[in-house]
Amino acid sequence: MAITRDETLDWMRRFAGEVAEHRQELVALDTAIGDGDHGTNMNRGMTKALEKLEGAELADSGAALKTVAMALVSSVGGAAGPLYGTLFLQIGNALAGHSEVDLAAFAGAWRKGLEGVQARGKAQAGDKTMVDALIPAVEALESASDLNAGLRAAAQAAEEGMKATTPLIARKGRASYLGERSKDHQDPGATSTYYLFKSAAEALAG
Ligand SMILES: [Mg+2]
Repeated sequence: MAITRDETLDWMRRFAGEVAEHRQELVALDTAIGDGDHGTNMNRGMTKALEKLEGAELADSGAALKTVAMALVSSVGGAAGPLYGTLFLQIGNALAGHSEVDLAAFAGAWRKGLEGVQARGKAQAGDKTMVDALIPAVEALESASDLNAGLRAAAQAAEEGMKATTPLIARKGRASYLGERSKDHQDPGATSTYYLFKSAAEALAG
């Protein structure tokens, strides 16, 4: 089993669909502990990304994901644009030249993406950020024995990581200004990251 360019395009359409469907949820989560723009920003960014993908000559999955990265960086403000832009750029770079992406390549690309996000945002596990969904999902991909099982395990791990942000006190980003008052709220960035893995499982697992 391997991932093709067209399946990656389907993944991005589904992710954009999840972001659009859950825009108000993401806004509400970010209003509680941030500045309330996460759903609106991600929806604008993924709408722009789909526009760019429609008109582009895309050699492979890597080219598609790099196109998404550029669209997010140019259209999304705040922390989410640079962080998601870095994530997609690192994954896209790692997958460039692969006409078919197997589990090892996909897991390796996600590891590069995670490293890029952590290098840029300086967040560690437990800081109540997107990294809390990313780390367990990437580890699930790395420990899987086949692509389909890995994709499903990653989506489940991201969901659990997202839910586990609720009791945490934020130590990074705008939410960290709230200190103790950031408790009892699910992190918006971890939530959008869960939707990225949910859409990956739906689009890419056979
Ligand atoms: Mg915000």
